[in-house]
Amino acid sequence: MRFLAKLRSAFRVEVAIDLGTAHTLVYLKGQGLVLNEPSVVAVDAVTKEPKAVGEEAKLMLGKTHSGIVAVRPIRDGVIENLQFVQTMLHWMLKKALKGTITKPILYIAVPSGANTVELKAVRDAGEAVGAKEVHLVPEPIAAAVGMDLPIHEPTGHMVVDIGGGTTEIAVISLGGIVSQSSIRVAGDEMNQAIIDYVRRQYNVAIGEQTAEKIKKRLGSAAPVEELETAEPMEVRGRHVASSMPTTILLTPEEVRNALKEPLDEITRAVKRVFEHTHPDLVADIIEHGINLTGGGALLRGLDRRLSEATGLKVKVAERPLECVALGLGKIVENIKKYRNVILPEV
Ligand code: ADP
Ligand code: MG
Repeated sequence: MRFLAKLRSAFRVEVAIDLGTAHTLVYLKGQGLVLNEPSVVAVDAVTKEPKAVGEEAKLMLGKTHSGIVAVRPIRDGVIENLQFVQTMLHWMLKKALKGTITKPILYIAVPSGANTVELKAVRDAGEAVGAKEVHLVPEPIAAAVGMDLPIHEPTGHMVVDIGGGTTEIAVISLGGIVSQSSIRVAGDEMNQAIIDYVRRQYNVAIGEQTAEKIKKRLGSAAPVEELETAEPMEVRGRHVASSMPTTILLTPEEVRNALKEPLDEITRAVKRVFEHTHPDLVADIIEHGINLTGGGALLRGLDRRLSEATGLKVKVAERPLECVALGLGKIVENIKKYRNVILPEV
């Protein structure tokens, strides 16, 4: 019997997937993280045949000729184009599983605010790529497990996950989400705020990828020592009036001011969640503080800004970009302990 059970488990391929708006990560049970690629697909504009996925496709974003379109199929945290998501998932699974023929069992993280139609779209995408079973886990719970929070205890924990398309704020207790909010303001909106600022201030148009570089190099949410002595950054774009290539210089302070609006919106959303959270759970959160994760958590000074705005401690995940995937991985490795976090099929 033991032998049979072992044999069966050897043929069980269990895969955890964080299908993010910016990045998709794949974790294989027993192995760990095996893939981390941008959530981008490049397809032939006419035949819709996939040309590239992941890193290679991201390089094509905004730089394609008319025959190829590079798209991010998951916008604002929800599947925008099911066919492209399937293409992406298929390619990523193939790369991660390296020719395994066994049908995988998938565990996919889904936004906590997703409705039944959106959940079904994710399930369908998993089934369409040949999964034997598809299990859905709310993202904030995966993030909380990734941050080693004792989610099963009767204590409130707040997780704020700032991704590419959405910021998800959730209060977790007894293994479930007790209150949550999701806003479409996160990393992409920060990039857009930089694009808008440069256009307004200098009459220069810059692309999304340039804005993202500026954010990572010079961005901050509060004055930080690290940037005090930073040189202004040379930024290249197109002058709106003359259409000529133009180079401007941006300072960290300008970028910080440019980011004010999206950051204020995120802060307001966090505060709003307290309004519909039970006072006893609020008391727990005062004690334990806010847990910050997602790529947006890497913005310098964001923890301080959020802490000053709420009066609470803010703890940043050790690996914000991998937190959900690692948490989901931990759930898959210890499924007996975490079975109750899987969403019931409807
Ligand atoms: P998703 O879960 O939606 O795929 P991620 O958690 O991968 O999103 O986060 C992606 C976002 O994090 C992007 O908008 C990216 O620009 C942002 N990001 C990554 N690194 C940094 C950084 N060092 N500073 C600020 N933002 C960052
Ligand atoms: Mg994410």
